[in-house]
Amino acid sequence: MTRVGGGLEPQITPRTALGRLKPYTAGKPIWEVQQEYGLDRVIKLASNENSLGPSPKALQAIQNQLPDLHRYPDERSSVLSEALGRHLGLAANQFIVTNGGDELIMLISRAYLEPGDEIVVPDPTFSEYEFGAFLMSGTVMKVPLRESYAFSAEDMLAVITERTKIVYLCTPNNPTGTYMPESEMRKLLDSLPSRVLVVIDTAYRHYATAPDYSDGIDFIKSGYPVITLNTFSKIYGLAGIRVGYGAASEGIIRTLLQVKEPFNVNALAQAAAAAALGDKEHVDASRQMNEQGRHQIYEGLSRLSIPYFESMSNFILAELGEHADNIYHQLLERGIIVRSAKGWGLPRHIRISVGTAEENQGMLDALRQILVHST
Ligand SMILES: *Cc1c(COP(=O)(O)O)cnc(C)c1O
Repeated sequence: MTRVGGGLEPQITPRTALGRLKPYTAGKPIWEVQQEYGLDRVIKLASNENSLGPSPKALQAIQNQLPDLHRYPDERSSVLSEALGRHLGLAANQFIVTNGGDELIMLISRAYLEPGDEIVVPDPTFSEYEFGAFLMSGTVMKVPLRESYAFSAEDMLAVITERTKIVYLCTPNNPTGTYMPESEMRKLLDSLPSRVLVVIDTAYRHYATAPDYSDGIDFIKSGYPVITLNTFSKIYGLAGIRVGYGAASEGIIRTLLQVKEPFNVNALAQAAAAAALGDKEHVDASRQMNEQGRHQIYEGLSRLSIPYFESMSNFILAELGEHADNIYHQLLERGIIVRSAKGWGLPRHIRISVGTAEENQGMLDALRQILVHST
């Protein structure tokens, strides 16, 4: 046995697939920036969380659930599945509830990908699709988005092979805020071989205001091989408790249930999510705050001559240019956390989550001060 640094170096070889995995870079937590820079007040606009906070009804549901914490949670999240069925006009057995939307991506990868199978993803997009494929020794075909980050069915169809198993669409797309219009989605679905599963990630669907936006549910109802991914981490304000779900045909759901751990979603998360789903007031207020916030940030960025992309989501991709990294760090020093877009191969950009009017203003003020000092 070899001793390294006083400890035992494990001699056990991990799977070769692990060599390709890149660690996820999360938005910096508030406490970390407080400690690192010695700050009290920190504004976090880095993880697309809901700055209004969780639904008050969800908090009450968590309270009510506490005395039963010695019991295992419902394996199938039945109460929540029934509520989702009523909410979206599908049957309860057309849902799988997961430990965040992220777990759903892992379950899909685990259930469908053999080594060497291919997934198709737009580029840039959410990194977890690639993570799931790499973990299963799959291959990732990246399809660059077009001018202004527009989706193209044609470009995605061009990379389909016999090994293609899954096509991922993230709409509205993270980090660009662009969406795939319904007609383009239909074109893609009508031309794909029926052995290809289409995952439509609609984590940000509540924020999409374009009339030709599709959340994919109608395609499920029409029998297409589609699964939509949804989360309670964004508009419902429950990122900390980890709950999301997939909606699809009964058959797809049955397959995914085969690879799920029995008690994947804890009892508090199930109760909170069901309550949040019924809290229309909280969802409406959140949507309205976001709508106003987007315009506030658009105007603020325009005034600073910073180019940005109009967003159908609760974040905005802004182009700061060659000093983006420097500005990102100066924002941190001033207690403003945004997301560097470097990880998406966009070193000149940052992604800013839409917060409360006050948070947005704080971010814009800091940006202005930084830009004034650097000229
Ligand atoms: C946030 C997010 C998810 C899911 O997040 P969870 O917190 O795991 O539910 C899924 N897809 C995209 C694109 C996201 O931004």
